[in-house]
Amino acid sequence: MTRIIITLLFLGLNVGFSQTIRVGIFSDKSIKEVEGIVGKGTYFVFKDTVQLAKLGPADVFKASYSGGMVRVVVNGVEKAKGKSIRLIQDKQEDYLQIRLIQPSSKQRSYEGDFDIEIRKEALNLVNDLDMETYLEGVVESEGGTGQKINYYKAQAVISRTYAMKNWKKHKQNGYNLCDRVHCQAYLHHRSSSITIDSAVHQTRGLIMVDQSRELYPTFFHANCGGQTSEPQYIWNEEIPNLCSFKDTFCIRTQQAKWEKRIPKDQWTKYLVDKYHFPIQDSVSFLLLQHFVQEQRAAFYLHPVYGIPLRDLREQFKLKSTFFDAKIVGEEVVLSGRGFGHGVGLCQEGAMNMAKKGYTFDQILGYYYPQMKLIDRKEFIYK
Ligand SMILES: [Zn+2]
Ligand SMILES: [Zn+2]
Repeated sequence: MTRIIITLLFLGLNVGFSQTIRVGIFSDKSIKEVEGIVGKGTYFVFKDTVQLAKLGPADVFKASYSGGMVRVVVNGVEKAKGKSIRLIQDKQEDYLQIRLIQPSSKQRSYEGDFDIEIRKEALNLVNDLDMETYLEGVVESEGGTGQKINYYKAQAVISRTYAMKNWKKHKQNGYNLCDRVHCQAYLHHRSSSITIDSAVHQTRGLIMVDQSRELYPTFFHANCGGQTSEPQYIWNEEIPNLCSFKDTFCIRTQQAKWEKRIPKDQWTKYLVDKYHFPIQDSVSFLLLQHFVQEQRAAFYLHPVYGIPLRDLREQFKLKSTFFDAKIVGEEVVLSGRGFGHGVGLCQEGAMNMAKKGYTFDQILGYYYPQMKLIDRKEFIYK
């Protein structure tokens, strides 16, 4: 009896968090018509509790926006119109190949169930699927191919933690996360990579928390250029646990260095117009000739001029704020390091750590100091 009660209590604690996630797919499109073909297995089409059709591999399902309703057509025959249509898979590995007809898109494959609803005179397409299956798709979309398993394991923990932290980000759209980089890129159901699938599987349920057991901030970027950024320099706010440090793992990697030339007039005009830079002043003029960042700085030239490097990055579409600048003839030559905002984990550094044999928890511990790994079932929303 005691044992049953303990088991029930244990289950009770665990049901606080759903094992599935709702992801808005093709979320940047105003969808008028979509086509679904079964890639594997069987799908059942429902309107409320009524089964409209059973789809096998040869069947063609179409849904279109029709006067405020979803119009369902199977193999050329209209089945129904409704406010909300649900497609349910028979077995977990069954998947649909989905393609937009209007506007048109390439075909992509997705596992799990689907909800098609009306939103803003278009179809809202939601993929309702197992969290870990979703993560396989995310890790491939975010992390690319050809990396070591420990890199993917680190990425899987980051993406899982991110999903938990942003669970309500798209509440008003009827799903948890969208499929764009706005949240996390999720472009198809599962990778063809066994390495990625096993990375997700081997870290099943693991998330990062800080010392107060809050979900850890999961910022990452392509390459820090040898030093990560101070969050305050980038977003004007401090982020607990994350501060700048020297990263020795990314120095000789692909995106470690860049160069860009900008017409001198354009550069100085921006400084004068926007920040009233005193170009007539001889000391200021001299400073402008050669600017060096040995360490990452917040401001260009000197803080006294109040020109944030992040503004220059945005204005001139620079890869990073970590650059030196000197005037050569009629041009400003920028020699930069790194790619991205530089806060948190440096992807190319992490890839290199994995190549050198570091484990995923060592990689995460290096870029996210004080982080602790726990099972997401142990996490309690406060
Ligand atoms: Zn989003
Ligand atoms: Zn780095």
